[in-house]
Amino acid sequence: MTAETTVVPRFDGRALIDGRRVDAADGQTFDCVSPVDGRVLATVARGGAADIDAAVAAARRAFEDRRWAGLAPAARKRVLIRLAELLLAHADELALTETLDMGKPIRYAKGVDVHSAANCIRWYGEAIDKVYDEIAPTPATALALVTREPVGVVGVIVPWNYPLLMAAWKIAPALAVGNSVVLKPSEKSPLSALRLAELALEAGIPPGVFNVVPGYGPEAGSALALHMDVDCIAFTGSTRVGKQIHVMAGQSNLKRAWTELGGKSPNIVFADCPDLDRAVQAAVGSVFFNQGESCNAPSRLFVEASIHDAFVEKALALVPKYQPANPLEKDTVMGAIVDRIQLGTVMRYIEQGQAEGARLLAGGQAVEPVPGGCYVQPTIFDGVHNGMTIAREEIFGPVLSVITFTDAADAVRQANDSIYGLQAAVWTRDLNKAHAVARALRAGTVHVNQYDEDDITVPFGGYKQSGIGRDKSLHALDKYTELKTTWIRIDSPL
Ligand code: NAD
Repeated sequence: MTAETTVVPRFDGRALIDGRRVDAADGQTFDCVSPVDGRVLATVARGGAADIDAAVAAARRAFEDRRWAGLAPAARKRVLIRLAELLLAHADELALTETLDMGKPIRYAKGVDVHSAANCIRWYGEAIDKVYDEIAPTPATALALVTREPVGVVGVIVPWNYPLLMAAWKIAPALAVGNSVVLKPSEKSPLSALRLAELALEAGIPPGVFNVVPGYGPEAGSALALHMDVDCIAFTGSTRVGKQIHVMAGQSNLKRAWTELGGKSPNIVFADCPDLDRAVQAAVGSVFFNQGESCNAPSRLFVEASIHDAFVEKALALVPKYQPANPLEKDTVMGAIVDRIQLGTVMRYIEQGQAEGARLLAGGQAVEPVPGGCYVQPTIFDGVHNGMTIAREEIFGPVLSVITFTDAADAVRQANDSIYGLQAAVWTRDLNKAHAVARALRAGTVHVNQYDEDDITVPFGGYKQSGIGRDKSLHALDKYTELKTTWIRIDSPL
């Protein structure tokens, strides 16, 4: 498939509530615009409070009559595995949807997003009949069972940067343990979530168990977060909105609130790093991956002063490889920025970086490899201080800031000087230094001599204002379950 031969599918933008496609209650819609070339992809239901009410009511009914929660874990497992298989069977269609909707290169939409989403759903499906409850070590006069129960109705709100995958990280563990779900995808990329819910029905998830209401944050999103009959809200998005989610949870019914938020991840390269070329490739490749629209992008690059010049020279040599191009072409590695608003945000940060005295070494321009699309050049700033705005705020675009440090203590001090604590990396041959720095870094994940490793088996989430709770791994089940203690008295006849 090339960009010229791509046939743009007809998308159904209606909500999916109680197993049926429906318009918004008040008939409102919004246009879903592709950042690839500016075309309107679909007319999407603009969900509001009434639609959230309907979806929550359907989810509640489904939960109460136990059409899903009442199944044996092995039965839910079979359905989730079938859903994972359906995702793979529709991988081309879903990847095309993702690329058209949010602009990422088709090779990654298929190879990373769709495959990782399917793997996530399969993994939780397979896990769920292998998780045991506990019997507490109490005195022999009683038995205390400690069991996990589903929390009930789970509201899920996700961002646009990995639409299908972020939805999978939440819905897979939530559904695996027996909850009902109401998902609100981002207004910037609603299409793959709607298709996911259709495939879930086809896989055998009963109507009402998994509902999707597209719409805007302050309308559909806040209605979900404030809803009195939602038991848990699982949010991925910006720190700004994440804080509001916790407030809304507290203002309403004290629903459990879990937030996966922003990052400004430090990548620390010592002069004794084992392989300078590999470190440069990882530093550049990871910050430009997904157009820099990744929460864990290592956007602050700390380089030991003695290797600064060599590092920067090698980094600049890699930049041409990341020039943006049509994401529908199979060789493209840098696609479109999600929309004009985000493009404007990225450009303002680039201007601010220059105004605050950072040296623009590469990029810095908006370009149009496809007329009407939203693209920005891969951008590298040198001479950045950790106090500059571009080093403090999450840009969410392909912008790398190079900062120098003098020794390990200086590197750790600067790296930790951030409101965020999502991920970090350290590159050194010295095992002792690697461990000491990894321990000192205040981040949910620390990489040593690489930045690529990722697996569904490990928790993902942040310290500080990068959020509360963890996605992925068995730890994610804690978010979607309540612990119940059942005391049973034992009167011994012996
Ligand atoms: P965002 O916070 O603007 O929006 C996220 C979601 O929240 C969207 O669905 C949006 O409609 C909704 N929303 C907006 N305002 C709302 C409100 N008042 N009430 C309820 N919902 C509301 O974030 P974004 O721009 O879509 O995504 C980018 C952000 O997501 C970045 O900060 C990024 O770091 C973060 N992110 C974090 C992780 C992680 O795992 N930590 C993963 C991916 C993205």
